This record gives sequence, structure tokens and C-alpha cells, in this order.
Amino acid sequence: MGKDRSSHVLFFPVPSQGHMNPMIKLAELLALAGFRITFLNTHHNHERLLRFTNMAAYFERYSGFELGTITDGLPQDHPRSGHWFPAMFEDATAMKIKQSLRDMLVNVSPPVDCMIVDAFLGFALDVARELGIPIVCFRTSSPCCFWTSYSIPDMIRAGELPINGNEDMDRLITTVPGMETHFRCRDLPSYCRAPDMEDSFIKLIVKQTRKSAEADALILNTAEELDGPILSQIRTQCPIVYAIGPINALLKSRVNAKHGESYHHFSNTLLEEDKSCVSWLDKQPNRSVTYACFGSLTSMSREQLIELWYGLVNSKSNFLLVVRPNSVIGKDGEGDDVVNELFDKTKDRGYIVDWAPQEAVLNHPAVGGFLTHSGWNSTLEGVVAGVPMICWPYFADQQVNSRVVSEVWKIGLDMKDVCDRKIVEKMVNDVMVDRKEEFAKSAAEMSKLTYQSVSVGGSSYSNLDRLIEDIREMSL
Ligand code: UDP
Repeated sequence: MGKDRSSHVLFFPVPSQGHMNPMIKLAELLALAGFRITFLNTHHNHERLLRFTNMAAYFERYSGFELGTITDGLPQDHPRSGHWFPAMFEDATAMKIKQSLRDMLVNVSPPVDCMIVDAFLGFALDVARELGIPIVCFRTSSPCCFWTSYSIPDMIRAGELPINGNEDMDRLITTVPGMETHFRCRDLPSYCRAPDMEDSFIKLIVKQTRKSAEADALILNTAEELDGPILSQIRTQCPIVYAIGPINALLKSRVNAKHGESYHHFSNTLLEEDKSCVSWLDKQPNRSVTYACFGSLTSMSREQLIELWYGLVNSKSNFLLVVRPNSVIGKDGEGDDVVNELFDKTKDRGYIVDWAPQEAVLNHPAVGGFLTHSGWNSTLEGVVAGVPMICWPYFADQQVNSRVVSEVWKIGLDMKDVCDRKIVEKMVNDVMVDRKEEFAKSAAEMSKLTYQSVSVGGSSYSNLDRLIEDIREMSL
């Protein structure tokens, strides 16, 4: 017999900006559809959201939307900088979180009917199975990266991995179905460059990837129109896959349909946004500015920042550069010194901030190009905004994504593995001036496709409806 209450869905992302962003957007989409939601953040990230956003007030508009918190298993004084979160995947820290998650699920009222968890939190699958709760994994990085990671054992068997020290990095990889024609060694996820396939991180990635394929279903932040051939391949191993992206556009489409275009969307930022850059953009001509930003985790050397900066300064476009605090690695304090020095020298040609309201920036008419680290959210945000990209991938799926942008979608250029001012200058000039029309046209076409996919009757719109129906069924 059915319940006389709405289904209760629990969300749990890996605690980083890039994982939380798409998951909180999906949570809002399900809240709009009438589900009761518990969105779990670690205590640390919850505090940051309360500090920098109006989160608590915002979600009050949805009845039954709870913002829960859970330990991240680390001592309070842990710096939580860099890429600390892999420690969550399968060690003593992860086991503390697993126990807290289990305790919470046993005691929560009304009971949780379905869990949507980050595909990297394999321990959540064990808890769900033990308690008999349906579970859907959300893999927030790119489908091509999921598929490549899934295929690592096949690449090892075929002798394509490991990549040895004097390897031709332009050699084509032939054992990842659907990617044979355009993926080279250098385009594999960064962890595939490990010299030893017994490397514990590689093993963990393969294990978590394959484990997430055992969930009741898999959610991917893409559209059939963007990643169709790879989605077909993934479906040979995971029969139920919901492609519901780009999720930022899907949420906007559904919220605006309900509340109108002027609705003020929630910004789930973990750092304080410097909105002064939008006023600066207001004074720039249309499509004249390169927006340069490298996400929430990238760090770079002082030398790399200087090369990127000179490339931008010597190019024919003005620029808006984001340099996150503590993201430039130098000797003590040197990173900050170089940023201050560049800031002073930049005044005529550009603007530098610590952290930007990225979606607003990308959609600003003054922005004509995006120099990006090719994080999956940033990539999709660039696609939706119709902004061509110059890709400087840093790690994880970014090496794959930049290849998709340049070779599959043809909406940008890939600067992978080099950081040289001349190349930065040339690529920025290509995108912003010399091949401007060509890139602007292909990016506009790609953007149009994404809008179609998130509009009524579009693929992502319909896939979300199917997900909603299926969660209701699972929860009966
Ligand atoms: N972001 C932002 N302001 C910034 C830099 C990044 O709001 O100055 C957001 C960006 O819009 C994106 C997320 O942070 O949604 C970064 O996610 P992504 O997957 O691109 O990269 P990651 O940070 O995980 O490497």
C-alpha cells in the first residue's frame, strides 16, 4: 500500500564545490516536484554556505526541505585545503562518515525512501543495501571520464596502460569503446599517468567507478545531445542512466517556468563572491573580455601564473582573472606577493578577483572567451552560455574534458601540458579575434542544443521526468 506522504530523498555529495553544485541543483529540482528532501553537507561546508549565502532562508520556500549536516571525519583544526577529500573514500575517515550516515538513516523521521549520493562515496552503497534503501549514484564529473575510468582494467589488459616514461603521449588509445578515433594518451584522466597500475588511487578509482555502476541507477550531468555516443556505451554496463544536464540550465528552465524570468536563483558558493567584477564587465564592449578561472581546487606555481598572466596581457583582449586565495604555490608568502604585483600591473587591461559569481560572468555580454581548467561544471556552464573555451586542464577528468571541447564539440582549443605565454597569447587571440566568428558560431550552436534539451519535450527535461517517476516508484 502506498504512503500518504511525499517521498523522502536524501542527498549526499562529496564535500567540494564542484560536487555539491550539481547535487544541490538536483535537490531543488526534486523539491519543485514535491519531494521531501534532506540535503547532507559536512559541518564544515554547511558553515561556509551559511556564511556566504542565504541558504537557510532560500530553502524555506520548499516545505520539507531540510539541510542536514554530517561529520567529514576530520579533526576541527584540519586545514581541509587542496584535495583532501579523497581521504573520504575508503579509510578510517570514511568509516567514521559511514557510521554517522548509518546512525542518521536509522533514526530519521520520516524514513528516507531513496538516497542520491555522490558516485565516489562507495560506502553509502553498503549502508543503503544493509538498510534496504534504494540508491541512485550521481557521478558529477564527465561521462567520458566515467567511461574511461570504467575501462581502465581493459586498457591494462590490452597493454595501453601504464604509460611508460618515454611514451609518445600523442598515441591514440584504442581500447575505450566510442573514443577510439580522438583520444590520445595525454587525454586520459590525470591519474592514468601513474607509472604503476597497482597505485592505490587508481585502484580506488576503478573500484568506486565500478561500484557506482551497481547502484539502482546512475545520474550524469550531461545531455543526450552532448554525449550521446558515450552514453550509449555506458548503458551497455549500467542499464538505467539518467542524463539530466546541463543541470544549471535545467533548473533555470523549470524554476523560471514556475516563478518567471526575474526569479533570483540560489548561489551555492563556498567562498565569498566578489561582485565588483560584474560592474567592471558592465564597462567593457560586447564579447571583448577573456574570463580566466581555474575552479575551486586547482593550484599552480608562481611561474605558471606569470606565464598565463603575460599571455593574457600580450593578447588583443582584456581579461578578468580569478586567483583563489592560497592557490599559487611559492615559497612562504611568495604566491600572494606575485598576485598583488600582477594586480597592480593589470589595471589598464583587466581585473583580478579572488572568486567570481561565475555563471553571471559567463552570461555577461562582455565575455567572449573562457580560459578554463576544464572542470566539468565550468565546461557545462561555458557551453550553456555559448562562450568558446581555451582549456588548460589541471587534473582528474579535466584532461578528458578539454579534448571533448576541442575535438568533439569543436568549441575551443586545448592547451594541455604546456603553460607558455606565447601559446596562451596565440590561443586567446585565435578565440577572441582571429577565428572569433568560427568559434562563436559553434559555441552558439552548442548552447542552443543544450537549451533545447532542457526545454519542455527536450531530452534532459524528459529524462528528469522519468527520474522523478522512477524515484516515486522505488519509494512505494
Ligand atoms: N566557481 C565560482 N566562482 C569561481 C570559480 C568557480 O562560482 O570564481 C564555481 C563554478 O561556477 C563551478 C564550480 O565552482 O560551478 C567549480 O566546479 P568545476 O567542476 O568547474 O571545477 P572544480 O572546482 O571541481 O575543479
